[in-house]
Amino acid sequence: MKNIIFIAPPAAGKGTQSALLEDTYGYNHISTGDLLRNAINNGSEIGNQVKDIMEKGELVSDSIITSLLKEAFNNIKGNFILDGYPRNINQANTLDNIFNELNINDVIVIYLNLNEADACNRALGRIVCKNCGLSYNKYIELLKPLNEGVCDKCHGELIQRTDDNEISFKNRFQTYLNETNPLLEYYKQKDMLKIVEANTSSDEIFEEIKQILTGERSNG
Ligand code: ADP
Repeated sequence: MKNIIFIAPPAAGKGTQSALLEDTYGYNHISTGDLLRNAINNGSEIGNQVKDIMEKGELVSDSIITSLLKEAFNNIKGNFILDGYPRNINQANTLDNIFNELNINDVIVIYLNLNEADACNRALGRIVCKNCGLSYNKYIELLKPLNEGVCDKCHGELIQRTDDNEISFKNRFQTYLNETNPLLEYYKQKDMLKIVEANTSSDEIFEEIKQILTGERSNG
């Protein structure tokens, strides 16, 4: 199986697709957002440094993210999904170096394309498990939990992320456009980019991703 980098606007569904891929194919899911939220929940030094930045919807410093990412790579064996990294050109260059050091070359980039209004609706309806991080959506029938407020998988409590409010979302989307969107051209040049339209159901998006992975869909 190919390793995957997800690039998408905030709340487009990277986490949901990553969880489906993890369950179906046994991928290691590396989410920089989850790594940071864990650091905050553990009350660690890094957590204290990043809390306000994340709540405002800005990017935390590349050096903090790089150290968390390197640690995550040290802890995994097998194929991985990168969800939330890279988010700017500097991080993409760092990642190229990490791949060179670790001799990783079987990587594709999947871009989930979603417009701002749809992404905003998903962010405002999103609820996540406090315990395992799985996300649900209170407005989307297929993504509702079986029992209100409770995670289907681990029975943890479902909460709203503090950055899933309208003001923070607008900032995150703008940061995405300014810093992350240029990565599409970067990976297109390297012939790694696959585009998936994300304004459909998570099942339909997942089907398309599976077709990319199995080679049934080979175009960009
Ligand atoms: P979403 O994709 O829905 O915006 P994430 O969970 O991926 O949510 O990220 C939440 C926040 O964590 C970001 O808004 C940012 O503050 C921080 N973050 C995550 N990944 C990175 C990264 N690679 N570089 C800098 N900041 C990051």
